[in-house]
Amino acid sequence: MSKQLVVIGAGMGGLSAAIYGRLAGFDVLVLERSAQAGGKAAGITVGEYQLDPGPSIIILPKIYEAVFTAAGRKMADYLQFQRLETLSRVFFGSQAPLDLPANELDACRILNDISKKDSCNLRSLLQKIEKVEPYLDRTVYDHPFVSPTQLLDLNLLKFGMGFNPTQTYKEQVDRMFESHLMRAFFYGFPSYGGQTYWAKSPGAFLIPYYMLREGVYFPIGGVRAIPAAFERLARELGVEFQFNADVDSVQTDDRVIQSVTLKDGSIINADAFISNVDRFTFSGWLGQPVQSEPSFSYFTVHWGVREVLPKLDHHNLFIPDNFQIGFEELYQDGQFPQKPIVYVNSTTALDSKAAPRGSSNVFSVVTSPSKTSRMDWKDKEIEFTGRVSNALAEGGVSWDPNDVDFIRVQTPSYFESAHGNYRGSLYGLEDKHRQWGIFPASNKDQKYLNLAYAGGSVQPGAGLPMVTLSGKFAVGLLHSN
Ligand SMILES: Cc1cc2nc3c(=O)[nH]c(=O)nc-3n(C[C@H](O)[C@H](O)[C@H](O)COP(=O)(O)OP(=O)(O)OC[C@H]3O[C@@H](n4cnc5c(N)ncnc54)[C@H](O)[C@@H]3O)c2cc1C
Repeated sequence: MSKQLVVIGAGMGGLSAAIYGRLAGFDVLVLERSAQAGGKAAGITVGEYQLDPGPSIIILPKIYEAVFTAAGRKMADYLQFQRLETLSRVFFGSQAPLDLPANELDACRILNDISKKDSCNLRSLLQKIEKVEPYLDRTVYDHPFVSPTQLLDLNLLKFGMGFNPTQTYKEQVDRMFESHLMRAFFYGFPSYGGQTYWAKSPGAFLIPYYMLREGVYFPIGGVRAIPAAFERLARELGVEFQFNADVDSVQTDDRVIQSVTLKDGSIINADAFISNVDRFTFSGWLGQPVQSEPSFSYFTVHWGVREVLPKLDHHNLFIPDNFQIGFEELYQDGQFPQKPIVYVNSTTALDSKAAPRGSSNVFSVVTSPSKTSRMDWKDKEIEFTGRVSNALAEGGVSWDPNDVDFIRVQTPSYFESAHGNYRGSLYGLEDKHRQWGIFPASNKDQKYLNLAYAGGSVQPGAGLPMVTLSGKFAVGLLHSN
């Protein structure tokens, strides 16, 4: 008889774990608190507007493809991607916007007119990463790091040696780039891994590398099409889903998890468990509440506007003139910037069906502190929404308030209550708690042998491609017990 695996949460990490669990021979049941799969990548509907209220910058489709290949399927039968020409439209203060191409050649050509040094250094940075990036396929993208002896892996050392370990990320960026455009563009990437720009790890250089070398994509049907394709594959493989199944508590016995209890009182037993719920939230369920400070979160404002906004492209970045101050406020003071850098995703620029005819989706995202001891989130929604709309207005993007069909705001409190993120953090604990100072938390539970973790709070990290890998890691750890 097959062993039973329960996956708690149907985010991308949980869906990946369910698929790999089934491929490893488990009978798999996914328990999901909401009414649909996808977690932060799930779409929602407001009136006639289709919203993708979470991830929007899609890179590395090859990581999704590997899941379909592992299951003996062709990804193209489930999920298709369109490669985008523009990485982002950049609005710098009140200057005319500039389209930053999503390929190295054109990006360097445009940059050449702004700073020859930056253009040259961008090219050498990408060439340097090109040499060491393949080592990741043998290390951090291949398996979790559960023991310090794994740090001696030559492939890992070869990757690290491509970068200067004595300099912070910011020092390296400042040494390479003199233009405001490149500095503002690069400073934000460490936060997408839950780090500040004083981190000495080179991982933050990888996202711009993938964007410029391997491309930025739009999934046909919107971001929601990715989890939908995973759910379809999982079901075809025989994975069962129970929606509106809110896990409330965990029953343990010495060194194993025996069962979970849902809010409605039903008890579900299994041989093994994978939590796609944040590892540090799950700790609380295990009677080991965490006190440490959380990493970063997001503050988002989604406007449905009954106007066509031709100035917006699919991806847009609004950068204030004194952007350095905003990064200091976020990274140094742990505060929401007075003048934040605002990323705006306007899905209607590519997909007119995402909103009623003649209307626009304006989804604004600001990297923010989570619910930390330094940041008071009480009654801040209106004030911060104002800061976001001021940033857009400075770039020349505004609309008649009477044309607004809805405003939908997401704060760290929302991510905590709706998705189970520890104090609203998307990346687990703050930087200084990284495993051996390098990696996100382990996918393996130290105490419970039949418990592993998948998702943004554990290795190899957050972001859709990484949480997809985490599902595979979690299943591998259950198997090795
Ligand atoms: C605004 C925003 C923008 C982002 N932008 C990007 C981007 O551009 N590109 C990118 O790659 N990534 C981006 N990300 C990050 C990416 O969305 C996440 O890293 C990823 O979706 C996390 O997946 P997950 O599986 O870890 O968790 P989640 O998607 O949060 O899934 C966890 C699941 O567990 C369920 N759950 C929680 N508690 C319980 C319970 N008690 N019982 C049962 N189920 C439960 C939840 O309902 C949820 O479905 C963004 C995130 C946000 C919020």
